[in-house]
Amino acid sequence: MDVFKKESLELLRSRIDLVEVLEPHLDLKRSGASYKACCPFHEEKSPSFIVKRGDAHYHCFGCGAHGDAIAFLMNHVKMSFAESIEHLAERFQIVLEREEASSGDGQVNKKVLKEAMEKAAHFYHACLLHTKEGHLALNYLYKRGITLDFIRAFRIGFAPNAPDLLLRYLRREKVSDEISEMVGLIRVTQSGMKRDFFSDRITFPVLDKMGSVIGFSARKVREETFGGKYINTPETPLFKKSYILFGFSYSRRRIAKERRVIVVEGQIDALRLIHEGIDFVVAGQGTAFGEGHVAELLSLGVNHVYLALDGDPAGQAAAVKIGDLFQKKGVEVSIVPIPLGLDPDVLMQEVGPDEFLKLLDQCQTYLPFLVSYHSKQIDMSSPSRKNELVRALSTQIRAWEAPVMVHESLRKLAELLHMPENLIGVDQVAVPNIYLKRVEAVSVQQFDPDKVMESDIVRWLLLASESYPHIVERTELNLSLEDFHYPHCRKVFEVYFQLLSQGKPHDLLSIGVELQEGEEVSFLSELLQRKVNMKRIDEGVTEAIQKLLTRKWMEKREALKAKIHDGSLPEERILELAREFDDMKKNSPQVQMEVSSSISTHE
Ligand code: ZN
Repeated sequence: MDVFKKESLELLRSRIDLVEVLEPHLDLKRSGASYKACCPFHEEKSPSFIVKRGDAHYHCFGCGAHGDAIAFLMNHVKMSFAESIEHLAERFQIVLEREEASSGDGQVNKKVLKEAMEKAAHFYHACLLHTKEGHLALNYLYKRGITLDFIRAFRIGFAPNAPDLLLRYLRREKVSDEISEMVGLIRVTQSGMKRDFFSDRITFPVLDKMGSVIGFSARKVREETFGGKYINTPETPLFKKSYILFGFSYSRRRIAKERRVIVVEGQIDALRLIHEGIDFVVAGQGTAFGEGHVAELLSLGVNHVYLALDGDPAGQAAAVKIGDLFQKKGVEVSIVPIPLGLDPDVLMQEVGPDEFLKLLDQCQTYLPFLVSYHSKQIDMSSPSRKNELVRALSTQIRAWEAPVMVHESLRKLAELLHMPENLIGVDQVAVPNIYLKRVEAVSVQQFDPDKVMESDIVRWLLLASESYPHIVERTELNLSLEDFHYPHCRKVFEVYFQLLSQGKPHDLLSIGVELQEGEEVSFLSELLQRKVNMKRIDEGVTEAIQKLLTRKWMEKREALKAKIHDGSLPEERILELAREFDDMKKNSPQVQMEVSSSISTHE
C-alpha cells in the first residue's frame, strides 16, 4: 500500500507519542520515568504493562506483549494497518501526502470533516437541552425512559425546525459551506438554496471506531414531520453506510473479547443496552444490514450472533434475512425472544439487565426459528406446500459456506420437519468437493510448519527493531532470502533488510507501507498477535535461526540421498555423493554469533 509519501510518514513517526495513543484506552499511572497500567492483553490485578517516557514501544512483563503505537491499535483497538496510520496522522496532526493523486476521498483531510461534525453534534445537543423547541423532543425522550444522564452520555440532540440555523452556526464557527455540504450537514435545493439537512428531528450521533462523529441518525418526534421515521446522513467521505454499525465504538472492545454480539434494530435499543452495561451490541444503519456489516463483525472474530429484533412481523422477517447472512459465513445465530409489541429498549426497562442477559441463554437457534417462521405462513398439512418449503429451505442452507454447518443443518432440518434425511439429500453433501477444499485450506493455513517456523524469526526481527542491533546482525549473518519458503515471511524479511541496507527506519510503519494491502498486511498483524518474552530474545532468536538452518541442512541431505538412489548416475559419482553425504551428516549447522556479542560484554 505504497500510497503515502515517505517524508510524511517520517514526520508522522517523529510525532507519535505512544503514551498519548495509549491514554484513552488504558488507565496509565505515572511512576518515575515510566507509565504503568494493567495489561489489556491479559487478565491481571497489578500493573505489569510498562511504557518508558519517550520510548516508542510498550512492554508487558506479565504476558510478553510488546509493540509500538501501530501494533497497539491493530491488536487492541482492532484497526487495520491503514486505519492505524490514518488515526495516528489525525491525532498528531500530520497531513499524509499521497504519492500520486488517487481518486475519491483520499484527498480530503478527514480531520477537518470530523471537526465540522463535532460542531454540529455540539449544536444539536445544545438545541435539545436549551431551546423551547427542544423541550418537546426532550419530553418525548423522557417519556421513553431516557434520562438526562443517558442523553448526555450519548450526546443526543435536536435539529430545530428551521431552514438554516445549523448552517449559520457553522459559518460562525468558520466551517466553510463546502465542508458542511461534503459531510452531509447541508443540502443544496434545486433552486440553489442552502438548507440544513435535518430539521425537526431528534439526532443521534453516529461514531466511527474511535468515537469521532461521522454522521447522524435522526428520528422524527411528531407524526406530521416530513419523511420516514428515521433518516440518516447521506453517503459522504466519512459516512459509508454499508459498513457503519451504530454503537460500534462503545461495543467493539467487548465484542472482540467475547467474540459475540447482539444485533438490534433501533438506535435507542442499542444505546439502552450499552447504557445498562450490555456493551456488546450494535444496530444496523436503517433497515439495510448487509454483507459489509457482517464483515466488520467477523473481523473482530465474532462467532455467535444474537438477533434481538422487534417482536413484530417486520422484525421477524429481518431476523430471517440477517440470520442468513451470518449463517452463510459459518457464524452461529440465535434469536432472542422479544415478545410481540416490544422492542429491546422497552424490554430492558421492564426486566433490567440481569434478566435480559438470561434471555440470551434461552434463545432459539436459527434453524428451528426459520422452520417455525415459515411453517406459520403455510398450510403444513398440504404435501405440496410442505414440499415447496423443504426445497426452499434446503436450497437456502446449501448456499451457506461452512460445509459442516450445511451438513448438520440439513440433518436438523429433516428432524424438524419429521422427514427422512435422504429426502432432504443430506447424504449428497456429506463429502462434496467444497468440503475437501475447505478442510485443506484451513489446515494449510493453521498448521503450515514452514509458516510457524519462519514467522518466529520474522517476529523477533520486527520486535527487535532499533533496540537490539546485535539480533539483526546475527540474523543477517545466518539467514538469507532463500531460507524462507512461506511467501509472506519472505516478503517481510526482504523488505526489512532492504530498508536496513538503505539506512532507512525498519519499524512496523515503514514495513507495513511496503506491503500489499490485504493478505500481506493482515499477516503482519497476525505475526504480532503472538506474545513473546522479550527477556528471551537472545535465545529465542538463536533457536529460531537454528531451526531454519537445520531445515535447510535436512533438505539438502534429502536431495543428496535422492540423487544417490536415483540409479542413473555412474558409480564414481555416487561414491562422491555418498562421501559428501557423510560429511554433511557430521557437520550439522550451527548458528554463527555476531562479532559484537563476542567482543563487547555490555550494550
Ligand atoms: Zn500482558
